[in-house]
Amino acid sequence: MDLGIQGKRALVCASSKGLGLGCAEALAQAGADLVMNARGAEALEAEAARLRSAYGVDIQTVACDVTSTEGQSRVIEAAQGVDILVTNAGGPPPGMWSDWEREDFIKALDANMLTPIAFMKALLPGMMDKGWGRVVNITSQSVRAPIAALGLSNAARTGLTGYVAGTSRQVAPHGVTINNLLPGIHATDRADALDGGVAAQQGVSIDEARAQRAATIPARRYGSRQEFGATCAFLCSQHAGFIVGQNILLDGGATNLTM
Ligand code: NAP
Repeated sequence: MDLGIQGKRALVCASSKGLGLGCAEALAQAGADLVMNARGAEALEAEAARLRSAYGVDIQTVACDVTSTEGQSRVIEAAQGVDILVTNAGGPPPGMWSDWEREDFIKALDANMLTPIAFMKALLPGMMDKGWGRVVNITSQSVRAPIAALGLSNAARTGLTGYVAGTSRQVAPHGVTINNLLPGIHATDRADALDGGVAAQQGVSIDEARAQRAATIPARRYGSRQEFGATCAFLCSQHAGFIVGQNILLDGGATNLTM
């Protein structure tokens, strides 16, 4: 299917690995020029070079922490006039409700709620002026059903979800859509880190921890970054203009919900 976004320009935050990279690659494959970002320059430059050579698109890179004010200014400057925004950042660490202090919440809110909001505030006006734009926020299945050990993530991402619910209705009259993609478990470094924690806690190997978790998913496997990216690119396509303010679960059926 032609996604109709050849020549559009997209910012994909936190995109040298994992789900962000999946989104960047699918958008590049559809012919979009990119601004890519991550803290580590090495992996970022390597992936940008790979995508340029595979898809012949123009790619700018900005190596910085997207959750810092300075990093946000640098990325926003590079991304002026983008048609597509994909927000993403690392997730907060797991833990126990009784251990989290105010600073832990401030850090999580900054990274997973206020950072995507800052990018939307900066880049939505340009999209609205053009009468066309697409925003996809990478959040988590934890906004539909909480993951107890990820209370910092549950709290921050649910705040972002509430913000998007209202804001998406305010920008939709200008041809701009905002939607959230909610990953369940995908095979990325983040999943390895979480499985590593479970393995250490239970005294099992990481492969055993992974197999145990896969067995709890109706699809009996982890998702791939390519599947995730393809869904993101569709939400950013010309065909998805009537999808507004939605929260789309990509979890292999793991979240047990009727709707
Ligand atoms: P990942 O494989 O660890 O990749 C994270 C990417 O983001 C890397 O490119 C990393 O590069 C970059 N990054 C992290 N923090 C950053 C920051 N502050 N500024 C700029 N770039 C940053 O993670 P993932 O699995 O793709 O997860 C992406 C998001 O989805 C996370 O918020 C995660 O919590 C959420 N999620 C993931 C899953 C899953 O199963 N994978 C499930 C639910 C939710 P650098 O380290 O070089 O900065």
